[in-house]
Amino acid sequence: MEGQSKGAKALEMARKQVDMVAGYLEADPGILERMKYTRRELTVHFPVKMDDGTVRIFTGYRVQHNDTRGPFKGGIRYHPDVDLDEVRALAMWMTWKSAVVNIPFGGAKGGVQCNPKEMSIGELERLTRRFTWEISILIGPDVDIPAPDVYTNPQVMAWIMDTYSIFKGHAVPGVVTGKPLELGGSVGRFEATGKGVVITAKKACQYLNLPIEGARVAIQGCGNVGGIAAQYFERSGAKVIAISDSKGGLYNPQGLDLRQALECKRRYAYLLAEEVPQSEPISNEELLELDCDILVPAALGGVITEENAPKIRAKIIVEGANGPTTPEADEILADKGIFVVPDILANAGGVVVSYFEWVQNLQELLWSEEEVASRLENILKRSFDEVVAIYEEKKVTMRMAAYILGVGRVIKASQLRGIYP
Ligand code: NAD
Repeated sequence: MEGQSKGAKALEMARKQVDMVAGYLEADPGILERMKYTRRELTVHFPVKMDDGTVRIFTGYRVQHNDTRGPFKGGIRYHPDVDLDEVRALAMWMTWKSAVVNIPFGGAKGGVQCNPKEMSIGELERLTRRFTWEISILIGPDVDIPAPDVYTNPQVMAWIMDTYSIFKGHAVPGVVTGKPLELGGSVGRFEATGKGVVITAKKACQYLNLPIEGARVAIQGCGNVGGIAAQYFERSGAKVIAISDSKGGLYNPQGLDLRQALECKRRYAYLLAEEVPQSEPISNEELLELDCDILVPAALGGVITEENAPKIRAKIIVEGANGPTTPEADEILADKGIFVVPDILANAGGVVVSYFEWVQNLQELLWSEEEVASRLENILKRSFDEVVAIYEEKKVTMRMAAYILGVGRVIKASQLRGIYP
């Protein structure tokens, strides 16, 4: 994989994961091969008027991997490193994720190569609206439903919904999920992924007989997933000993003052040790290797590699991010006896509540907070138990077990539908 782009590595990894479970599935080799390819890919180059009067051309993608079990579903990412291969890999992972938690969606993903940190709010709005128009030939409430991902948020989803609705001539809230509550967003969607990370982490602790109370947790990433998971870990009695963002993190072996850390992030956009009592700065690399009970990678992919895996000391890894662990690292973690809750299970809380949001939009209903919370918890706990049952029966890793379940469900559905013509 030397010399490959990050995206190419992610795609190679996603395809390898399908091959790894092939022997466990009763699948026609052609159907299995189909799982490694995306169904449709759109690349767009589009102009945006910048605040200084110049026009810049941006490149974006919408990739649809599989819709055998239901409409395509997957987030939109704004990041300078976005490329077609990365979006392909992320779209594949969405298909397996929807299948693992057994919701009637397929998998897709989108992204724009840009650096939102260097753009004004007006520039981001114009970029979002033009990108939405460019991909509107593919998206729609019955076909393909985007959601937030790295550096996109409910406001971005509101612009997508508005732009799509203007062209349709009426409000279409079901075209996108993760919207603000005022526009048909679901209660509980914003916190769903981080909360799901903690629900599955608690299930893992229970399974391994490790108390969550007092468990030392290190979290890479302080955004929607990492920042929210940190708060739910604290509410569950665990101790967040480290948390980071793109510039590095904070560490306190006794447990960070999380309220101060998150307030510092909100106020200054970064985690500054001088603003958080008794904390010391730590690099993202050091954070992954900390002596802790639970490690949560919740930023970007490909961060746990064969280089650092031997140095990881956590007992449990709960993958908040998509694709944080390379297959080589996976083997090392398995040899070390580290229990991994894989991304397609650990971070599935987001797509589950996105599904609830979509159902509410289509039916014009508003569910209560309790209803969303209990349905989310039931689905994640049941999915965790289903993955563990395969893990025990087949004596494979938790990731393999999740893939056997997810890829297996898609293949079964594919075989039932058959191949047209
Ligand atoms: P976000 O934009 O809200 O936050 C991203 C965080 O990652 C920020 O704290 C940022 O500072 C940090 N970060 C960026 N580059 C980094 C680097 N090089 N090293 C360390 N930290 C870095 O994004 P998010 O929604 O929290 O997404 C995080 C991960 O979770 C992504 O892998 C995403 O695909 C995955 N995910 C998100 C959702 C969701 O519902 N938002 C659902 C499933 C999976």
